[in-house]
Amino acid sequence: MNLNSRLFDRIRVKSKSQEPEPAPQNVCNHPGCQNFGEFRAPMGRLREGQYFLFCLEHVREYNQTYNYFNGMTDDAVAKYQKEAMIGHRPTWTMGAKKGPAGGGPDGNSFSDPLGMFSRKTGAKSAEPSQPRYGVVAIKSLAVLGLDETATPDIIKARYKELVKRHHPDANGGDRSTEDKLREIIQAYKQLKSSGLG
Ligand SMILES: [Zn+2]
Repeated sequence: MNLNSRLFDRIRVKSKSQEPEPAPQNVCNHPGCQNFGEFRAPMGRLREGQYFLFCLEHVREYNQTYNYFNGMTDDAVAKYQKEAMIGHRPTWTMGAKKGPAGGGPDGNSFSDPLGMFSRKTGAKSAEPSQPRYGVVAIKSLAVLGLDETATPDIIKARYKELVKRHHPDANGGDRSTEDKLREIIQAYKQLKSSGLG
């Protein structure tokens, strides 16, 4: 047998090929959560282009607080987010009956390893122009893992992809994905009714 045959070389070369390494996954930004941060959530007004990454559970919590930010000053939003991130509150959900936020323990213990709250100093950023989408639309976009830069084409494609991914039929009949699916459909409906889907 001729081991130097071309056939043998071909086999050997082929066996060298390797599977590509899986890309590192982003972890949910919620403190202590190790889930995959699959959803981008805009940090808020005046932080355009900056995002948290959350798992579904925590993007929901974040979304529930999002309305609350509307009309708050940027500093108030940052303060609220700080308090939420360092875990003075049991959850991110702001109780409607809560009185004025009492200042938590001193803010000096707050550490910001991810630099998420660092403010840009120096050049004053221009006043943001009129946001393209309203808060409701932005929330719906967040459910789809998108932001306000998404075009209707992107929204539609993303929606189809998510429905496929979370459909019970695609998960061996696992119905635990149904809530998520419902939420996705709801979000898309909302966007469509705003002429964005
Ligand atoms: Zn999480």
